[in-house]
Amino acid sequence: MEEIGEVKVSLVNAYRVVIKGAVKRYGSLAALNDFDLTIEPGTFTVLLGPSGSGKSTLIRSIAGIERLDSGTIHFGDREIAGEGFHMAPEKRDLAMVFQDYALWPHMTSYENIGYALKRRNLDSTESDRRINEALDRVGLSTKGSNYPFQLSGGEQQRVALARAIVGRPSLLLFDEPLSNLDADLRERLRVEIATLTREIGATACYITHDQSEAFALADTIGVLQSGTLQQIGKPEEIYRNPANRFVTAFTGVSGSFLGTVESATAGKAIVVLGQYRIECRTSNSLKVGDLAEVLIRPSATSFTQSGSNTLPAIVLDVAYRGRGYEHVVECDFGVISSVFSPQSVARGSRVEIYVDPEGCIAFPTDKAFSPGAVTQSLIGIK
Ligand code: ADP
Repeated sequence: MEEIGEVKVSLVNAYRVVIKGAVKRYGSLAALNDFDLTIEPGTFTVLLGPSGSGKSTLIRSIAGIERLDSGTIHFGDREIAGEGFHMAPEKRDLAMVFQDYALWPHMTSYENIGYALKRRNLDSTESDRRINEALDRVGLSTKGSNYPFQLSGGEQQRVALARAIVGRPSLLLFDEPLSNLDADLRERLRVEIATLTREIGATACYITHDQSEAFALADTIGVLQSGTLQQIGKPEEIYRNPANRFVTAFTGVSGSFLGTVESATAGKAIVVLGQYRIECRTSNSLKVGDLAEVLIRPSATSFTQSGSNTLPAIVLDVAYRGRGYEHVVECDFGVISSVFSPQSVARGSRVEIYVDPEGCIAFPTDKAFSPGAVTQSLIGIK
């Protein structure tokens, strides 16, 4: 965005991306299986899913690197993929940042960035101004004459980011751009990606398997599984009202238990776990007597003295996390990780764990109930 007086003006003409009924098969496998998605103009949408869920296939289809077998893609009013029609990637007014940077090794940073302006027919003064501005925006104004091999991984990804924004495309696509970087650099570059994208006002679509990255970046998160979109919404909605067990498990769970439903009304259920009764949230599909699997969000647990919705436990492990301590505790029914407390509680201590009903979500299950079983097989347990 550029500020004119009080008013912020987008540098690009961001459009809505609409994908309908997208199918992409590799042999008998449907990498995209009747996939629908709408990305609102100027928003930052993150598509989150495990490996093999179809994220790359989707983003490559939006970019035009892959051809859909069927379905349509529109950018605003423009159809860019449809029945027997496939617009070439270079005509799509978008830029993509790849996991492996994809820089030309024989070109300097300046030349790599300038390459993205080749088809813009800018005069050399304007092109030079834009390249230097892009280098400056990513903090590399002194590295314009360096070749990729003379740059660190983080710097190379910054060049790739500058190359993506220099042409001011209406759509920015990010294919796991932080995966090859160290943790602290990942964090810094993440903030830069979020800031720069919002500054130019482009629509952004970013794919990752990393739940914390998705929540940190997104205006909207879409969760993928096996080539289908399981849920799309604001991060808060996805976390608070996950559509199903898969979405819950993939967006952060610190423990799970099996029990029997004692009562279920209006989105709430009491699930009995042996001699304990735990209040949970639930969709309306559970009935009294059903077996239920209760998934617990990491944010829902804390140490307490006594009261309702508590479980006795023993501290198995404690880890210092800067602002406080994360504990792993074992209850009669399983292990809960990520119990946070400003104070450390010693290993072996007997404790009571409060489980906030808001972050405790019950789903129907056909798994057999076995007291003492540690059900840690969930994807996403942290
Ligand atoms: P993700 O990016 O979420 O890891 P992909 O889109 O790369 O998922 O892959 C989705 C599915 O399609 C996977 O099962 C993968 O093995 C398969 N797949 C992807 N690309 C090809 C290909 N070129 N040939 C055959 N199978 C592929």
